[in-house]
Amino acid sequence: MTHLTDLTIASAIKGLKNKEFSATELTQAHIDAMEAARHLNAYIVETPELALKQATEADKRYSQGNPFSLDGVPIGMKDLFCTENVQTTAASHILEGFIPTYESTVSKKLWDAGCTMLGKLNLDEFAMGSSNTTSYFGNVISPWKDQKNPDSQLVPGGSSGGSSAAVAARLCLSATGTDTGGSIRQPAAYTGICGIKPTYGRCSRWGIIAFASSLDQAGAFARNVEDCALMLNAMCGHDPKDSTSSTRDVPDFTKALQGDLKGKKIGIPKEYRVDGMPEEIEKIWAKGIDWLKAQGAEIVDVSLPHTKYALPTYYIIAPAECSSNLARYDGIRYGLRETGDDLRDLYELTRAEGFGKEVQRRIMIGTYVLSAGFYDAYYIKAQKVRRLITQDFDNVFEKVDALLTPTAPSSAFAIGENEGDPIKMYLNDVFTVPTSLAGLPGMSVPAGLDSKGLPLGLQIIGKAWDEETVLKVAQNIETAANFTAKPSMINSQKAA
Ligand code: GLN
Repeated sequence: MTHLTDLTIASAIKGLKNKEFSATELTQAHIDAMEAARHLNAYIVETPELALKQATEADKRYSQGNPFSLDGVPIGMKDLFCTENVQTTAASHILEGFIPTYESTVSKKLWDAGCTMLGKLNLDEFAMGSSNTTSYFGNVISPWKDQKNPDSQLVPGGSSGGSSAAVAARLCLSATGTDTGGSIRQPAAYTGICGIKPTYGRCSRWGIIAFASSLDQAGAFARNVEDCALMLNAMCGHDPKDSTSSTRDVPDFTKALQGDLKGKKIGIPKEYRVDGMPEEIEKIWAKGIDWLKAQGAEIVDVSLPHTKYALPTYYIIAPAECSSNLARYDGIRYGLRETGDDLRDLYELTRAEGFGKEVQRRIMIGTYVLSAGFYDAYYIKAQKVRRLITQDFDNVFEKVDALLTPTAPSSAFAIGENEGDPIKMYLNDVFTVPTSLAGLPGMSVPAGLDSKGLPLGLQIIGKAWDEETVLKVAQNIETAANFTAKPSMINSQKAA
């Protein structure tokens, strides 16, 4: 039998149904793995007792022959989802000690489907970042190693770096993430796993700590495409508590995972061929194109002319929304409180002490672009450009069914490498941000390794509400790529 932590969700459910092992055993194996891998700092809070309690319930349902859809599947929850009675921090000092009295809709749906919660996963503070180096609770370390420089520690991507590291390192079968500008897709690419951000509105945002509300979207990380589909089945759906959640029916996403790509047209946007992109990324993209052709897809060159404005547009809109969303952390209602001589002191000292540097930078940018003198020049302008970016996608989706691009312009970098230069850090999102601005579904699948032995991902972008085509294309790439590489940490455990 495969090691329990090496299973996919689908094979774990099969094993549970066939009584090859119990949900308690499966959960315990992951608790052991989580505890043995604390050096990665993937979890902010571990909840083994809760997981085992949930596993006992799952075992009961299996023995009665009426399990839920994901019964007994151990997962990690990004610490941006409010979880009842379990500390929820958004990786910020300002929320340290905050224990919600309510459960986010998405996490509730996953518990209702029978998942067990191993703990709350680390992230960039308030999901702002691409490297998981802005967390108040410390950096997350990737389980992968650069073969040419094995002493350096690599980032797991961000902001959902705890999620990507934990899934890649076999510390959970799957994890939730949120993606505002790439925070599911980029970390999935860096750690050699799958990550999907569905269409904006597919999942309820209720109970997810807000960063930029017009962009934030929940999604899933898993080690294969089918598992992502299984997770989405449980996570998506209308929620009366979130007015931006869609009332559309949620299909069974696993049904999309059949057959080749005959009759499908895949667009290759020329603007994603950016200056200075490593040749290895070009090559993996070309390979991806060949794989899709071999599966019967027709490849069409397309143009998304406003792509170059996406990053500056995002870095106006996201900070603007964050400056407004984060105004609520005033030292009165949640978490940290620093007192001074008067109320003004309390606000200022709490926010100065509670927010990290990157969050403060974004709040300042956001406040600036929303201020009376600059609102039209920046914020309104950015909204107009956002519309043009969306129109670019509308135009190409009249001709093609999905787009194929690299997920990120590089493989994982070393911790500290881009630290001094926020603009360089922001460039990580160059391929993921346009999709977010347009609210479209996007997914990263591992496609190969670079010369450093590090994973490279390909991104599939779909039409709004057409996650099914995204998953189908992704699965075709998965089959062709046959990506079986595992993080160095796992390989060295085996060798030991
Ligand atoms: N890296 C991007 C940012 O820092 C995206 C973050 C995200 O998607 N949450 O804003």
